[in-house]
Amino acid sequence: MGSPPAAGVVGVQPPHAAADISSVEECRSCGARLFEGASFCARCLSPVVASEDEVAQGLGEVAAAGGRWVGTTSRSNTWTTDPRHSEPLPAKVHSRWKASPESFPGPVKLLLTATIAVGIPLAFYKVAGPFSLGPILIWWLTIAPRSVRDLWRRTRVR
Ligand SMILES: [Zn+2]
Repeated sequence: MGSPPAAGVVGVQPPHAAADISSVEECRSCGARLFEGASFCARCLSPVVASEDEVAQGLGEVAAAGGRWVGTTSRSNTWTTDPRHSEPLPAKVHSRWKASPESFPGPVKLLLTATIAVGIPLAFYKVAGPFSLGPILIWWLTIAPRSVRDLWRRTRVR
């Protein structure tokens, strides 16, 4: 045993060292095979912790997938986040005049204001005559100011 058989002699080939099984998930404590994605060993219950090599390889794969690989080797620790993730957000902009998803543009607001303040009372006066003066006064004191105030409320435009 131990020495290879002489030429021409039939022998039994000694067992080789185990093939490269570094990619096979094995428990680092007891060597048992792990279920795929296991977080602990089913035999000895010790937690499964990624080795530095596996962490480095994972980081490399993530970086390669993101197209942001900056290191030269798979063990590189260089890792830069996308600056868009850490930059402060642009300032919010509010305006009374500019249009926004919830408000009209300034010129339309002017037109609506004129309609609320003058157009509607005038139209009502033409229909109802002197009897409209009381309701118009109430309109001017209650509904019109609130409508105009809401119309010109500042809204976020950016
Ligand atoms: Zn184990």
